[in-house]
Amino acid sequence: MYETIAKANGDVTVNGHAPKMDFETFRNVINNELTSTSKTRHSINPATTEPNAEVPVSTLEDVDNAVAAARKAAKPWSQVPVEERKEKLVAFADAILEYKDEFARLLTQEQGKPLSQATGEVDMGATWLKAFSQMNLPEDIIEEDDEKKVINRYLPLGVCCAIIPWNYPILLACGKIAPALSTGNTLIIKPSPFTPYCDLKLVELGRKIFPPGVLQILSGGDDLGPMLTAHSDIDKISFTGSIVTGKKVMESCAKTLKRLTLELGGNDPAIICEDVDIEKIIPKIALLSFLCASQICMMIKRLYVHEKIYDKFLAALVEETKKFKVGNGLDDGVFVGPVQNSMQYEKVKTYFDDIPKEGWKPAIGGKLPENGKGYFFPPTIIDNPPEDSRIVTEEPFGPILPALKWKDEADVIAKANDTKTGLGASVWSADVERATRMAKQLEAGSVWVNSHFNVAPGVPFGGHKWSGIGTEWGTNGLKAYCNSQSMWIFKT
Ligand code: NAD
Repeated sequence: MYETIAKANGDVTVNGHAPKMDFETFRNVINNELTSTSKTRHSINPATTEPNAEVPVSTLEDVDNAVAAARKAAKPWSQVPVEERKEKLVAFADAILEYKDEFARLLTQEQGKPLSQATGEVDMGATWLKAFSQMNLPEDIIEEDDEKKVINRYLPLGVCCAIIPWNYPILLACGKIAPALSTGNTLIIKPSPFTPYCDLKLVELGRKIFPPGVLQILSGGDDLGPMLTAHSDIDKISFTGSIVTGKKVMESCAKTLKRLTLELGGNDPAIICEDVDIEKIIPKIALLSFLCASQICMMIKRLYVHEKIYDKFLAALVEETKKFKVGNGLDDGVFVGPVQNSMQYEKVKTYFDDIPKEGWKPAIGGKLPENGKGYFFPPTIIDNPPEDSRIVTEEPFGPILPALKWKDEADVIAKANDTKTGLGASVWSADVERATRMAKQLEAGSVWVNSHFNVAPGVPFGGHKWSGIGTEWGTNGLKAYCNSQSMWIFKT
């Protein structure tokens, strides 16, 4: 598919492959031009604390230029037949996969996650792009009789902007690019200043596939997000990030009544019933607690274990967690990399500092490495801390997990729901009917029985309460990039 599109665009291919792209220089993409800025900045490799390459620091002028190009491209792009737009998304995915190894290494270098997890993220990004090319948003016929036909149509919003956090820069960018572009919008990506590199290269590749102004990217500092949310010619912001920032984004968007999707933080409970097969589920629970150094919005962040099996379960979880090698994600066998940046390191460190102060009991971990570079923490499980301690009530977004005891079903459900967040939640039991009954009472946008953190491009994803507004992905996600139009056609 990439080759077909490249030929149609008159681009050079090398034996049918994408021409070589370097992974050392990083520029904005405005109107399909690679542009630099007079001021540049860099982020830090979290495993080594060495500086990464320089990236642009966009100004208001860059924002205005990108928005103007996006506006100019919006109408013609919306008129490109939807099947053709989808073909370009597939070609984009194929082009990304040609550089899978380069993207994965770069992702490990900027984000810190181990190479195998980084490779998995590149694959997921491509999967999301391709999956949206299989999804449709047809007009709904609401009513039809001899007199009239009433239909509901979905029209692109126009110019959209995607604000991306630092934990999954590739997947979360692709998860916004696919629905925005397939529904006929143009999109400006704003990566996190901590992880701009893979996103800049993604859009550089996209330049060869999409017409000018359709997919653009601006890298910058802390002032760039507010410039975009305040811009009067952007129609929608799709924001993924923290609750604190999400509220600021909403406040700013209100001034121009922008459409808005907010995908925010969570504090996911997992409820383990007394009848589980401990040996079978422990590897999964450990993985779903410490993957990506626990920097995933829908990780298990509060582990409620039935008191009848608590001791045995905790002992088995500790043994499993001991197997996780901590280190530089480029080294063999590493499962837990560093946390992504110094700000996050200092935040997670406060929970470790509280262990002696609050008298929390670590079942494993708890002590910071004495020397060495990098933002590393040992995977840590806190044994039954008080329900009102901050390790339970807050989202640490780092590898420190509270394990808690429960005995009464109604009580544990009330505790699981006793939070302003509502992103994900799970119940684990051999009795699927019982677990499903319990899971249905959990206040969260995604609920799993005997699993956690499953996501798929066709399944709507979003949070209840302070974990978000609106959903992304699936048909709901396509609609989130559209204006709904009801059309009444009278036949006489
Ligand atoms: P963050 O809120 O600090 O930053 C997210 C993005 O917003 C970055 O690109 C940042 O530069 C930008 N930003 C910062 N201030 C802004 C402002 N005033 N206006 C506009 N943009 C602004 O979040 P983070 O620390 O990068 O990510 C971690 C958080 O994201 C965690 O809470 C995590 O749970 C959440 N998260 C949620 C999801 C989800 O889908 N629900 C997915 C991943 C991460």
